[in-house]
Order: sequence, then C-alpha cells, then structure tokens
Amino acid sequence: MNCFRLTSILLLAAGSALAQTPAASQADANKPSAPAPIKSFDLTAIDKTADPCTDFYQYACGNWVNSNPIPSDQVRWARSFSLLRERNRYLLWQELDAAAKSPKTPLQKQYGDFYASCMDTGLVETKGLTPIQPAWTAIAGLAEAKQLPALLSQLENHGTPDGFFEFGVGQDDKDSSKQIAQMGQGGLSLPDRDYYLVDSPRFAAIRAQYVEHLKKMFALAGDTPEQAANEAAAVMRIETAMAKASTSRTDLRQPENRYHIYTVADFEKLTPGFDWGTYFHAVGIGPFDTLNVATPGFFKALNEMMQSEPIEAWKSYLRWHALHGQASNLPKAFFDENFAFFGKTLQGQQEPIARWKQCSSMIDGALGEAVGQDWVKQNFPPAAKDSMDKLVASLEKSLGDDIKTLPWMTDATKKAAEEKLKMIRNKIGYPEKWRDYSSVKVDRDDLIGNLHRSAVYERNYNFAKLGQPVDEKEWGMTPPTVNAYYNPSFNDINFPAGILQPPFFDFTTDAAVNFGGIGVVIGHEMTHGFDDEGSQYDGKGDLREWQTAADRKAFSEREDCVANEYSGFEAAPAHGDATAQNLNGKLTLGENTADNGGLRIAYMALLDTLAAQGKTIGDKIDGYTEAQRYFIGFAQVWCQNQTEQSARQSALTDPHSPGKWRVNGTVQNFDGFGKAFGCTKGQPMYPANSCRVW
Ligand SMILES: [Zn+2]
Repeated sequence: MNCFRLTSILLLAAGSALAQTPAASQADANKPSAPAPIKSFDLTAIDKTADPCTDFYQYACGNWVNSNPIPSDQVRWARSFSLLRERNRYLLWQELDAAAKSPKTPLQKQYGDFYASCMDTGLVETKGLTPIQPAWTAIAGLAEAKQLPALLSQLENHGTPDGFFEFGVGQDDKDSSKQIAQMGQGGLSLPDRDYYLVDSPRFAAIRAQYVEHLKKMFALAGDTPEQAANEAAAVMRIETAMAKASTSRTDLRQPENRYHIYTVADFEKLTPGFDWGTYFHAVGIGPFDTLNVATPGFFKALNEMMQSEPIEAWKSYLRWHALHGQASNLPKAFFDENFAFFGKTLQGQQEPIARWKQCSSMIDGALGEAVGQDWVKQNFPPAAKDSMDKLVASLEKSLGDDIKTLPWMTDATKKAAEEKLKMIRNKIGYPEKWRDYSSVKVDRDDLIGNLHRSAVYERNYNFAKLGQPVDEKEWGMTPPTVNAYYNPSFNDINFPAGILQPPFFDFTTDAAVNFGGIGVVIGHEMTHGFDDEGSQYDGKGDLREWQTAADRKAFSEREDCVANEYSGFEAAPAHGDATAQNLNGKLTLGENTADNGGLRIAYMALLDTLAAQGKTIGDKIDGYTEAQRYFIGFAQVWCQNQTEQSARQSALTDPHSPGKWRVNGTVQNFDGFGKAFGCTKGQPMYPANSCRVW
C-alpha cells in the first residue's frame, strides 16, 4: 500500500524500470563504477543516412540505437532516462555504502544499516523462510471466510503483502480539500488483467508458464508436487476471477469511473460477506462514515468469491502473496525462480541487476527523504533552483499565449483556462520540509523485518491523513528520481532534483538544447492540467467542469484525433505466434496530449528567450540552426532500445508511448518542425492534416 493514491498522478515517463525487476541475491562481481557524463546534444547519435522528414526518430537517434544494445540486466535502455537513472543511483550508492561503513549522523546510521541488511546475502540464505513464517502460521489458522477481515488486518499490521485490494486515504476528487478513505481493486500478480483474460496463443502460453512458476515456488517452500499443483490452480483461479471483475486501465483513466461515494453501511450491504467494521477497526484507521469505492463491481465479485471458493483456496492465495511479495529478498533459490519468470519470461531480461543496485533502489523507496537530504546537498546546487524558476515562468507565459490564440476555444473558456494556469503551483528539487522516519526501527540483521516495518510506517503515515487538511508541500517522488509529475488534485507540477541534471537540464549548453530537454518536460507537466483527464479538474484540484459544453465537445473531437492517430502506431511487430501490437490511443491519450502541448509551448518559450538575447531561430551552431537543435535535443531524450516482451507489456500497461512515437507522433503534429527541416508538405513528418489540441 506504499504511496497509496487513487487519483492518478501524471508522470513524465514510466516509473523506474527497476520497480518490478528482481536482482541478484548473491554477492556479485559486478562492482559499482562511476558512469560517464551524459551529453545533452550528441552529434554521434545522429543517423545522417536517414531523412528527418520521413522518420525523425531514426535521424536523431539511429546511430545511438544501433550502437547501444540493451545491457543484459535491463529490459529498456534509454539514452537519457536510463543513463541518468544509473548515474543517480551510483551517487546514491556512494552515500549508502559510506553510511553503512561509518555513519556520521543518526540519519546515516539508519539508512546505512538498512542498506547493510540488504547487502548481507549470507544472512538472507541462513534465515531461509523464517522471516515469512509468522505470516504463514497466521494464514494456516484460517478456518472460515468470515475470519478473513481479521486475518487481513493482522497481516497488514505486520507489513505482509496480502493481495486482495487497495485501501488508504486520498483526496476527495470532488472536494480536494478533504482527505477521505478510499478503496480500490487489486490482488493480481501478472502485470494486467489482460494477461489472465485475453484469448490468444501468446497469453495462453504466458498463463501456462505462470502456473508452472507458481508450482515451482510452492515446491521450493516445501510442498509436495500434488499440493503445489493444487495451490497453483487455486491461485490462478482466484486471480483470474479478480481480473474479470477488474476495471480496465483505460476505463480507470476517467475520474468519474473511479468515483463512487458509499456510506460504510451501504458498502457493507454491497459486500455482506466481509465485515468491514472489524477490518477498519483492526487496521487502526480513524473513524469515518463515508468512503470512495473506486471499483464497486470488483468488491461485489470478491464478496461472491468468498462464498464460492473453498477456504483452502484462500489460504493458498494468501500464502502465495506473502511469498511472492518478498521473493527477491529471500534465499537464492526463490530469487532465481522469481527472476526466471517475472524477469526473463515476462520481460526478456537476460540477467538480474547487481545486488548493490537493487539495495540502493530499495533504500530510496523505503527511506527516500532520509537519504535524499544528503543526496541533494551533493548533487543539486541552489542556483539550479533559481534557473528552474525562470524556465517555468517562461513556459507559463507561453502556455498563456497559446491559450489566448487557440482557434477552437470560446473566450469564456479561455478565461477559465487562464485562471487554472495561474493557479498551478511549482515544486522544484526537493521538499521544503523533510519527512521524519525516526520511528522506523531499522535492524542491520533483519532485512525483511526492516521492509515490513517500513511498509507499516508508510501505511500509518497515510492513514493519519484521514480528515486532516491537505499538506500542499508534500512530494510524491524522492529527490534522486529521474521523472516529473503533475497532480490534478493539487494542481501542481513537480520536478525532483534527479531530473534537473544533464542531459535534461544543462546550462553549459545552448538554450535551444535546454528547451528541447527540460523545457519540454516542464511544458509536458503543465499540459497535463489540460489533457483529457487533467482538464476535468479545476484550478483548486476539484473534479468540476469549467469548459462550456460546446468547448468540451470541440476539445473531445480534437482529443479523438490524437487517440486515433496514436492507435495507428505499432508498438511491436508480429513475431512467432504473437500478432503485431499497436498502441492503445485511449490509454496513452493524456501523455500524448502532454507531449504535443509540451513541444509546442517550449518552442514558443525558446523563441521568446532567443529574441531577448538578440538571437534568431535560424542562427547556426555546429551546422544546425537553433530550431533544428531544439528538435534534435528533444528527440535525443527519447532514444531507446527495449526487449520485445517489455515493449508488449508496456503497450498494455504504460500510459506513455514508446520513444519512437513520443518523437515522431509529436513532431508530425507541429508545423514548426517541418519548417525547421525544410520538409515538403505531405511528407510523413509534415503531413497535410495533423492533430492539435493545445
Ligand atoms: Zn506525463
């Protein structure tokens, strides 16, 4: 339940590619080494044999893509994101390693000990399954379905993952000043409901491999082959039923589809088999009368399953989630089997990442604002914050200018849009006030105990928000994170120190390249306030219509143009028994809208900046005009290689388009590009008809 959030926050890029990737459980030979600096503008990446007007991604990235195969421990390798993530993590590791050896402050002692507990693979091996045994003992005592609420609360109070559903506190979509209890679907182990439900040879094969994986994990834990087969079948049956009852990712993007206020009494009527009163009391959340049940259909189905599934099946399901949830922190046999399925089979990853990388990312996840305090001191000079303030102001002006000249919007709605824009707040670098982790007990000899206590701390931190005023200064990302986000309920844009680094943010280079990098990132986040999802919230962060009916209709028609356009882009070609897979234009609509708006308004801000410096967009550096350098700098943010398996998974689950379409999709919708490269109207990157929202 870490970082519980039902109102989606809109990211710049998929969360850390490492989030679900297991790592080596053995001390490994792969020693940390300092990554090379990353160039903001790379002439050697360019494929000069390609025509920029035909395939700009190939032109800007072709040589880089050819000469940078995916490292064996990765599934997606992107020139800017991956290289910077590796660099930031290396810098984080330096601090963790030093703190583990000789801590100088209580904070360093805490995160150093956590890191040391993760690195001690010998102890992990010696402990075996002992750390999860108390959870399994509790599960073994389950005698009837009506004891489930008490058992789930017991497991959660101990920090044990249990599947089932998501529960926490979040802002009320229709009154963002209120923090209320929220309930949502959950319970699946595979990446998406489609993995359980789609009738195709590829998914049928994955399902068969998943059942084999379940059997192997249960057998490793000591089951007989017959027991393991029974348990695997029960887990698959329950997760498949949960998948059927789940709302799709695309439908969940619509705020109204995830907003259903219930009284506790009515919620109990919906699910009479589950005693919510007992559960809420036992998990220790404060009292409340109403809650948002994001996906009522899921809970109705869960209630029916509680009656129809035998109690032994629920025990298997819970045993599985307790085991699976910690698989990469258990002995090597469990780690390897987990990696073989979730890393290699599902994502095409050849080797696990090094242990030091896994442990560094783990501490960033668990104590991010502790280790992050020291990280920003080393890696984020105060001057960077001032520069960002100026850049953000220039982008705000451009978006304001853009709104004023929109051909399709009435004056009344323009005024409302400008008001919303003025209310967007900026958060740059790191929090003004750091979170206090002093109550998290960290034991150098107890990795899984540390993870459990950290999970309980996060849950209680979240529960404590119930009924409290919203803390507008709170961050949803840790300082070293290479990403950015817009939060519709806060109406704020957030840029962690981790992304305010070369190649995104670099004041040793020319303005054009900087605007193509961090400028587009800022424009992307601002545009999220006005995409198909974000535009449904007003400047205060409340779900409330502020466009006139006619403007909303014109807006939706323009959004449909973008959705149809991107649905025509191929995410993975046909291969073996897998058919070609296209992007889901509706799932990626918000991100594509943000990319298109970001590219346009950052370009406008660049024009203003050059004019103020007495320069023009036609001035040349290294043979390229400022305009060309802007577009190349932008495109080179997205140069990437990705395994086929991962590309297919992303196409189903990631609201962001892959690098190629983040580049080619946006430039072909913006006339400024065709003009900069002297393209002829009608060429692929300069089409006669294109889509434009903002
Ligand atoms: Zn985004």
